[in-house]
Formats: sequence, C-alpha cells, structure tokens
Amino acid sequence: MLAPEVETRPWAEQLAIDDVSYREQLAYLFERSAFYREKLTAAGLASATEAGGLDEIARLPLTEKQELRATTTPENPFGAHMCAERSEIVRIYSTSGTSGTPSYIPLTAGDLDNWVTGSSRSYAASGVEAGQRIVSSYNAGPFAAGAALASFDRIGLSHVPMGTGNTERLMRAVELLEPDAAVLTPSYAAYLAEWAAERGFDLPGSSVGRVLVAGEPGGGEPAFRAKLEEGWGAQVTEAMGIGDIGVSLWGECEHQDGMHLGARGFVHAELIEPQTGEALGTEDGATGELVLTHLRHRAAPHLRFRTRDHVRVRTSPCPCGRTGPRIRCIGRTDDMLIVRGVNVFPSAIREVVSEFAPAVNGQIAVRPSAQGAKQDPPLPVSVELSPGAAADPGLAEAIRQRLREILVVQTSIELVSSGTLERSEYKSSLVQR
Ligand SMILES: [Zn+2]
Repeated sequence: MLAPEVETRPWAEQLAIDDVSYREQLAYLFERSAFYREKLTAAGLASATEAGGLDEIARLPLTEKQELRATTTPENPFGAHMCAERSEIVRIYSTSGTSGTPSYIPLTAGDLDNWVTGSSRSYAASGVEAGQRIVSSYNAGPFAAGAALASFDRIGLSHVPMGTGNTERLMRAVELLEPDAAVLTPSYAAYLAEWAAERGFDLPGSSVGRVLVAGEPGGGEPAFRAKLEEGWGAQVTEAMGIGDIGVSLWGECEHQDGMHLGARGFVHAELIEPQTGEALGTEDGATGELVLTHLRHRAAPHLRFRTRDHVRVRTSPCPCGRTGPRIRCIGRTDDMLIVRGVNVFPSAIREVVSEFAPAVNGQIAVRPSAQGAKQDPPLPVSVELSPGAAADPGLAEAIRQRLREILVVQTSIELVSSGTLERSEYKSSLVQR
C-alpha cells in the first residue's frame, strides 16, 4: 500500500475530510467558474454556503458532458468552467470526442500531481511494487492515459512502453524482457491470449504474473476474467478512470472483489438512477450510474459529473485493509438496452453466455434492431463457438433460456464459428448496430 494511513482511514473520517474540501471547492467554483456560478444560481443556490456540505450534494444539479462542451468557443476552447489562469496550466489532454471535436482537459501542476497520486494508489492495489517490471500497451498520445503511465514511475516500477497495434513486438518483449506485469485493455488482453494459443506461444508459462486491465468495462466480469486468467496464467485486476475527472481513479486489489477508490480525498463518488437522475444510496449491492465530483481540483473542476459508467457497489470490509465503498463497472449507461422495460447490459449477456464454455469462447455481439436504447424482443445476439465446436441448435436454445432466466430478457441466438466476430486490439464494443 503506497499510503496506508490514507488508504485504511475509517471511511467516516474520510468523508469528514472530504466535506471540508468540498465546501472549499464550492467556494472556489462560485469565485472562479462562470459555468458553475450560473448553473448553481439558476438552481436557486446563490452562494457556496447555501449549497451546503457533502450530505446535501444531491440537491445540486448534475453536470452533463454536453453542457460543458456547449460553452466552448474558439476564444475559450476549454469552456466556461475553466477556472485557472493560462500560466497555471501545465498539461492539456484531450478526449477522443465521439462527435469529432475533441474536448480539452487542462490541469494545473497540483491537479496533475493529484491524478498521478490517485492513479498510483489504484495500480499499486493490484500488488505490483517497486523494482518490478511492467509492460504497457497504451497509445497514450493526446489522451489522459498518459498520466496513468506516469503513475508507474511513482510506484517505482520499471516501465516498458509498447503501445498498441504491434502484437509481435509486445510478445517478443514478454518473452525476452520477462516483465512481472502487463497493463492493457481487457479486449486486447483477450486478443493476445487467443493470439498466443493459436501460435503455440506459452503465455501462461511466461513471466507475467499480473495482468492489469483498464480502459473499458469487462475486466471484472467473473467468467471473462477467468478466461483471461487462464489464457495468461496470471492474476487479473482492473482499474478505471474517466478523462474529465481523473485517470485510474479506481483500482482493484488482489482480493478481486471490486475496485477501491485510489483517488480518495480528490474525488467524491455518488450513484444515480440514469433515467431520472435521482440520487441512490451506496449500500452493498446498489447499482446505478456513477457521478463524480472533484474535491480539490483547480483547472476545470466538475461538480456531479455524469460518467455514464454503470456500477455495482460493495461495502463489505476488504481483507486488504483499504476502506470505503468498492465498485465494479457493469457497463456504460450508453450501451444499456431496454427490452420490454428491462434494463440489459451487453456485458451481462456476455457473462451469462460465458457459462457455456468450453462450447463457446466468450465472444458475443449484440445486434439491436432499433435505434436508441428501447428494443422490442427478441434481442438478436451472435455467439461465437469455440474452435471445432458444432453449431448445435440445443446449445442456442439453452443459452436463450438461461438469458431469459437470469436477465429476464428474450433473445434470439445465432451461433457463429470461431473467429467470425470482430476483434479489437484496443477497445471493443459488444453492441453492433
Ligand atoms: Zn482490497
């Protein structure tokens, strides 16, 4: 543990500290952020004092990424929530931007340091430690993932950057440089396990004892994880962040029971019901969309920012000693489908389908017939068979019934041969429209 006195602090104590930070952050927003001053005033809150403390945060409006984006102009490409002076900004990341135009993420030196501090706690939770060697496969480029890579230096790891898209080079590094750990997206980890198996490359026998996955949901699904662990002969743990708020905010420990908040003290987490925006409790087993608030951010802080990540909370004590709620990402709110009133995540479908291994190999594609989230049953799902497995109609029917039983969703199952569905060397979507 990098900071035991922080990471094992009783959670109530952490919340008391966070409440002080939060009130200061609100005062800062009222003073410096044109965006939040206007937004909070419009919500009937004329000052930070009126907005109150953390226990009243649910009274405040949520922030949508689109609202921030709408305030950008050629004169102010950061948007109206920019709080710091130009001279205070030491780093500018950008997001890939689904609509074409990137959005910029400015950071002060303090912001960047907090990002790296939180990220290093999250990655260290996986068990990697100073002196070990880690091979990474992120093409960080303009993206915030670059700050996650900086956290490997902070931990004291020997970092071998490999980037994405050159599997031969990566596997040669695994063979010759004998890294203790590898960090990559779950999609790429799965791709490499298949790649190795097809070529007789002994990945399970390699030096890699820990596989750290991040960048997309999936690494926490038990069946998918079991398959990755088998393919790599390594323990798989996941980490998660969001560019606008911070990199690798969350990281899972060796007990593999959800991600701890490495960025505790810097970020406050809440859950909401994604359709109504209603605040939900964070008791054990609760699920909802993750909403994050900066507590000590300076450049462009966010208040109640909707992450679009749908998570499940765990609150039971973790044997590692780290305190506070843990989360597992179930999927992206944007990927959620509503089939006759039932919320369905493609990752949950994959989880159920994976129970049918070894007949299936865990690759699926959900093919919604209608635009948007609402779908009429049955929901078409393509399921890839394992190499050499036959397309037995009984298998398709068994999968269909199991999905109905577990997820209460009507599907139509198409079995396809191994290698049919698209693989990604970076991130993959389980939904194909
Ligand atoms: Zn733990």
